Amino acid sequence: MPTATNTAATLASMKGAEGTSGSPEPARSPMECATGHPAAPDKIRSMAIQRCPICRTEVRTNPRYPDHLCQDCATRAIAADGRPLKFFNTSATGGFEAIYADDNTPAEAVTRDHVVFVDGVRCVANEARFGGIVIRPAP
Ligand SMILES: [Zn+2]
Repeated sequence: MPTATNTAATLASMKGAEGTSGSPEPARSPMECATGHPAAPDKIRSMAIQRCPICRTEVRTNPRYPDHLCQDCATRAIAADGRPLKFFNTSATGGFEAIYADDNTPAEAVTRDHVVFVDGVRCVANEARFGGIVIRPAP
């Protein structure tokens, strides 16, 4: 059986070649790819991204408000009495005002105390520095 002998001989010689120089290299380079390459960008990305503290959705990074709620959670904000809220800047330069979303009446307690609840989490709503409203978990 010349064929079988040849195959066995070929396999043996290939094995021998791999064992000495081939095998360690293919084993090492994928590991370098897995740890070295993605590790660095991952590290940078995890520092750059910011997540909503309520639902963990990725939000736009904001160094000033590193824990602000995402838009979805912000719209679910309710007053202490359970009524839905809407927030406004009272003027072009800022200011904070809350109204009840169900009948558009002023939510005076919220406007005064800034305390809202999102999914049962006590939060603080306030005017953002550059306009708009920012909601963050209460300290
Ligand atoms: Zn959210």
